This record gives sequence, C-alpha cells and structure tokens, in this order.
Amino acid sequence: MMGGSKERARERREKRLQEISLLRTIPYSDHQRWWSKETIAVVTGSNRGIGFEIARQLATHGLTVVLTSRDECVGQEATRVLQEGGLDVAFHQLDILDPSSIQLFVDWIRQTYEGIHVLVNNAGVNFNVGSDNSVESAHMVVATNYYGTKNIIKAMIPLIRPSAAAARIVNVSSRLGRLNGRRNRIEDLNLRRKLGDLDTLTEELIDRTVATFLQQVDDGTWTSGGWPQTFTDYSVSKLAVNAYTRLMAKTLSNRPEGEKIYVNCYCPGWVKTAMTGWAGNVSVEEGADTGVWLALLPDQAVTGKFFAERREVSF
Ligand code: NDP
Repeated sequence: MMGGSKERARERREKRLQEISLLRTIPYSDHQRWWSKETIAVVTGSNRGIGFEIARQLATHGLTVVLTSRDECVGQEATRVLQEGGLDVAFHQLDILDPSSIQLFVDWIRQTYEGIHVLVNNAGVNFNVGSDNSVESAHMVVATNYYGTKNIIKAMIPLIRPSAAAARIVNVSSRLGRLNGRRNRIEDLNLRRKLGDLDTLTEELIDRTVATFLQQVDDGTWTSGGWPQTFTDYSVSKLAVNAYTRLMAKTLSNRPEGEKIYVNCYCPGWVKTAMTGWAGNVSVEEGADTGVWLALLPDQAVTGKFFAERREVSF
C-alpha cells in the first residue's frame, strides 16, 4: 500500500516538474512586459544561493537589479560576475539586522534611483540540517528571517515608486512555516485560528507568538510547547513571515490605483544551496523561478498568497 502511494506521489511530482519546465520555456512575452531598464528591483541576501539566482533572472528579464549582501567584498564579487555577463546590476551593502546599514541603504537608493518597484526578501538563515532540531540559534533565526524581513519591508515601503502595474514584494519563505499544513503545525488550535483569520491577525499577535516561543527556548520548556516539530525555530520564523505577508497584503490593499503594492510569499522547494549543505532535490534555477514569476506577473492583482512551484497553496 505504502509503496503504491509513494510511487503515485513520485509520479505526480515528476509530472508537475515537467509542467513547470514547460512553463519556464515560455518567454515572458513583450506585450505582457510592464517593466523596463528603469524598473528597479532589490534582492536581499543575493550574494549567493537562491537570492543570487533571483537577481540574475530578474536582470536577464531586463530590470535593473540591486544586488545586496551583508559582506561588502563578497557582494561586489557576485555583482561583477553578473555585470560581466552584460546585466544591469548594481551593488550595495545591506545587513537586514543592522539599523545603520538599512538606513545607509535607504539613503543610497533614494539618491541613486529615487525609489524601487520590486523588493525580494530572500535573506535568511537556518542552522539545522538533516534530522537535527537544535534551538541554540533560535534568537538569530527569528531575528533574521522574521524581524529582518519586516525591518526591510518597513524601510522600503516609503521608497516604493508609483506604478500602473503595481509594485511587488516577494518574501522567500517555506512550506515548513505553513499554519495549516498536514504536518509540522502549531498544536494550539485557538492560536492557529487567530493567526489564520485576517480579522484577528495583527502584527502584535505575530510578534507575541514568536516571543512566546523564544521565551520557552530560554526557559527550556519549548519541547512541550506544541510548536512545529521539524526545524522548530526555522518553522516558527517562516510561519511568522507567512502571516506577516498576509497582513501586509491586507494593510496595503487600501492604496489607490497606481500606488498598489502586491505582497506574496513562496516556498522555493528543497534547494541545493549552502543552507541545505547542497542537498535538496531542486536546482537554484528552479528554486528562484516562482519568486521571479511572482515579481513579474503581468497585470493581475495577486496579493496575500503563498505559492509553491507557481501554484497557490493554503497558508
Ligand atoms: P544561502 O545560505 O545560500 O543564502 C542565504 C543568504 O541570506 C546569503 O546571501 C546570506 O548572506 C544572507 N543573509 C543571512 N543573514 C543575513 C543578514 N542578516 N543580512 C543580509 N543577508 C543575510 O541559502 P538559500 O539561498 O537556500 O536561502 C535563501 C532563502 O530561501 C532563505 O530565506 C531560506 O530560508 C529560503 N529557503 C531555502 C530553502 C532551501 O532548500 N535552500 C527551502 C525553503 C526556503 P551570507 O552569505 O553573508 O551568509
């Protein structure tokens, strides 16, 4: 029985991968192209991995991309690689945890480009591999993946330029942070309901949820706290990113036509990068694909959604 269902799952996955690679061969056609060289896209943590590939693909589609990295030398080197390939890519240092780095970045963007049209929040950390589930770095994981992403969104929104096609924010998240997935969920049904309902979802609730988790990490009670069981700290941080994505989409939906900002998040799959120790079953090209697609979607009002392999999934 088990063998049969595994086999069917494998077949479904292979079929889906074929569909995706077909979608990828269809070029972004000219009449749908709302962007140009004047369209500015910022990608966080783009010196390597999925972020570098998102930067490369966006620049290949003809946008001007700002590659950012917390390490100046590494970022400049990565930028040079793309520039030598003829792409319009500029570099600026950005550490999403450092308020002074964020401020310098904001000032530089304002002076250099006046503003941006696309923001991809890709920078993130994870310290567990395989079957590990240590929370030793939980504070860093939550600070980077959730608060860092939030810091950048808050800093960049005032810099988003009006655009008839709407500006785009894409958050690179993870299926592990799903609120209502079949596995790896928060056990507390009441908390799940509150986080999942846009009428009760607030920034304060998301902050309080991650703070409760970190408090339990500090006092050693987290294992009985009903948190997701796989890569718990990482899952909690991405769950917060997902919830914040929905909340921001709702908050920003009141903006007038011409000043719209669409905010979505996605899971890149299990990707061969440093984060997975180059394990994983998809390439960086595949891992970047849904993010680039979301950033460039032609005039469709897609916002507040979670995607995997270009398909919407429930939060
Ligand atoms: P990498 O470790 O290769 O890349 C992570 C990037 O984030 C690096 O550029 C890193 O910089 C940067 N970064 C980390 N902390 C900061 C910070 N404080 N300020 C600025 N940049 C920072 O991993 P991936 O490419 O795999 O991960 C990219 C995103 O995809 C992450 O958000 C991750 O959670 C997500 N993801 C990845 C999956 C996978 O299977 N690989 C699965 C699901 C989601 P530095 O080089 O200096 O460390």
